[in-house]
Amino acid sequence: MFEKIKDLKTYEAGKPIELVVREYGIKPEEIIKLASNENPYGPSPKVIEEVKSKAHLMHRYPDDSFYELKEGLSKKFGLNAENFIIGAGSDQVLEFAVHGIYPSRVLMAGITFAMYEIYSKQVGAEILKTSSKEHNLKEFYDMYKEYKPEIIFLCVPNNPLGECLDADDVYDFIEKVDSQTLIIVDGAYQEFASFKDSKKALDVKKLTDYPNVLYTGTFSKAYGLGGMRVGYGVANKEIIKNLHKLRPPFNITTLSLAAAVKALKDEEWVSKGIKNNFKEMEKYISFAKEKGIEYIESYTNFIVLFIENSKEISNKLLKKGIIVRDMSSYGFDAIRITIGKPEENDKVIDILREIS
Ligand SMILES: *Cc1c(COP(=O)(O)O)cnc(C)c1O
Repeated sequence: MFEKIKDLKTYEAGKPIELVVREYGIKPEEIIKLASNENPYGPSPKVIEEVKSKAHLMHRYPDDSFYELKEGLSKKFGLNAENFIIGAGSDQVLEFAVHGIYPSRVLMAGITFAMYEIYSKQVGAEILKTSSKEHNLKEFYDMYKEYKPEIIFLCVPNNPLGECLDADDVYDFIEKVDSQTLIIVDGAYQEFASFKDSKKALDVKKLTDYPNVLYTGTFSKAYGLGGMRVGYGVANKEIIKNLHKLRPPFNITTLSLAAAVKALKDEEWVSKGIKNNFKEMEKYISFAKEKGIEYIESYTNFIVLFIENSKEISNKLLKKGIIVRDMSSYGFDAIRITIGKPEENDKVIDILREIS
């Protein structure tokens, strides 16, 4: 019955806290979850208040035009409502784009966000990856010339590695690609990158001037709303109009909508979280340097450490209630650690010192 999808793989999400509770008998409050790049501080307290105050509205569908949210996003980027589409996470926007184009071939970095491949395979597309693991735009261009993919994914900065292209290099690349090829620029961690280095800051408004660029952003990372599932796509009106044909009605919830609208009004909270993130990341960098462990310079809220026997190390961490992402399935030993709260990072580093 499911012949057509027999080769598809299920996305493996980071292990949930509940599973570690069940398997290792560790108390939920003792578990440190640093596997899914969530914001350890959560959203602004104002957002939590807002959701509580709107809880009695959960029997109502949300405003399907998402008017207020698009207003807030318009302000953030200096654009208009018709430049936005809202998704249940930016994942859903990626899904609309891939299903809307229905490509035969897509191009992406050697190691990048898993959902690009999953959505593309759903429509039977051939997956082309650069031989470099990190984004190398020369290789992207050569492969684009040779294979003419209909979609090119750029993850800026890249998950799960953490490296980030310069904004100018992204624009130069876009300008060399023909306007019939959709370039999806995934900015899930842009808030982090642009804080760390202005050369990495993409001008999203400028991206909407191109006829073939879709930018995606999310409330799941810097804004601390992973559990609410709100993301967005930004592009010129034509692209957005077409993506809307694939959007089911009421695709985010009434309370998610309220949370996202409010979150945009407390940017100070977001900046504070980002500052803490890079301050705490320094602890991992010092640890890596001290131990002679290689790492990738990160523009995100996680760091990749090339630690030997990473599978074993991740399992040992798990038994102590610490969830990180083992990367050995990529064919090399490394772990990806989401930057947590100060006390969490201290504990992780102490344990890593003991076991590695
Ligand atoms: C987290 C993430 C997303 C999407 O997250 P949503 O929760 O669906 O908004 C998209 N791209 C990358 C690279 C991510 O890391």
